[in-house]
Amino acid sequence: MKLRLVRKIKEHEDCFTFVFANENNLKWSAGQFIHYTLPHEPMDNRGDERWFTISSAPEEKDIHLTTRFTSEKGSSFKKALLAMQPGEEIIADTPEGDFVLDSSPDSIIFVAGGIGITPFRAILKDLISRSIPMNITLLYANRSPELTTFKDELELIKASNPGLHIEYFYGDRFITKDDLIKSGHRFTSPTYFVSGPEPMVEALKQTIKEIGVDDIHVRFDYFPGYASDLK
Ligand SMILES: Cc1cc2nc3c(=O)[nH]c(=O)nc-3n(C[C@H](O)[C@H](O)[C@H](O)COP(=O)(O)OP(=O)(O)OC[C@H]3O[C@@H](n4cnc5c(N)ncnc54)[C@H](O)[C@@H]3O)c2cc1C
Repeated sequence: MKLRLVRKIKEHEDCFTFVFANENNLKWSAGQFIHYTLPHEPMDNRGDERWFTISSAPEEKDIHLTTRFTSEKGSSFKKALLAMQPGEEIIADTPEGDFVLDSSPDSIIFVAGGIGITPFRAILKDLISRSIPMNITLLYANRSPELTTFKDELELIKASNPGLHIEYFYGDRFITKDDLIKSGHRFTSPTYFVSGPEPMVEALKQTIKEIGVDDIHVRFDYFPGYASDLK
């Protein structure tokens, strides 16, 4: 199927959201992703296919794709994506993935590295639009407050949802074992959802194992193609 670009939203210096019209009435669960193909010339050896989380909730109707652009060694795919103009189309498969909330949003810890916030934005917006109360802590690591994707929106959500706690980590202040343990204190048996650049998620997987969380209480969403310092 093809998705038509409606508009581009500049989130901050190097991050954009691409809003596609949902003309095929596509159904998805908050937190799922789509496999995209964007034919372009000239194309580098990284190809014309990528996976992106749908950063919008189903109730928002449009399909949002939020991504980062790097000034150095950026791919031809991202250049072609950034050059897209309203009315132009991208090829998309149907939504898939199990990085979704399948029980009540209670005793949940979201851990996001940089652009790894995309599934959490979708999930939080979904809970709000369905008026479902939440008991969630979000640990969110970024380069700086200015480069924190969706920060204003998250703060607004927090202001009207006392069950949402957010802790930000900037620059060299990484999310440690102590941070994960501390965030779990207000819950009896928390479930961890971890999303971000692959090296960061791999490292946190090890840490979460060390603090004794069993497999049914943890889920991971790996974003390949980003270095670990690309928070
Ligand atoms: C299920 C899933 C969901 C995802 N969701 C999102 C999402 O919501 N948002 C998002 O931004 N990404 C998401 N991703 C990751 C996305 O698919 C891309 O892999 C990522 O955005 C990097 O894009 P890019 O390869 O075009 O690199 P760019 O973003 O253009 O560049 C990233 C950096 O990677 C380095 N690099 C990586 N590979 C190479 C290579 N082969 N040669 C040279 N340099 C390289 C470069 O140093 C460059 O600076 C998701 C991935 C998966 C699997």
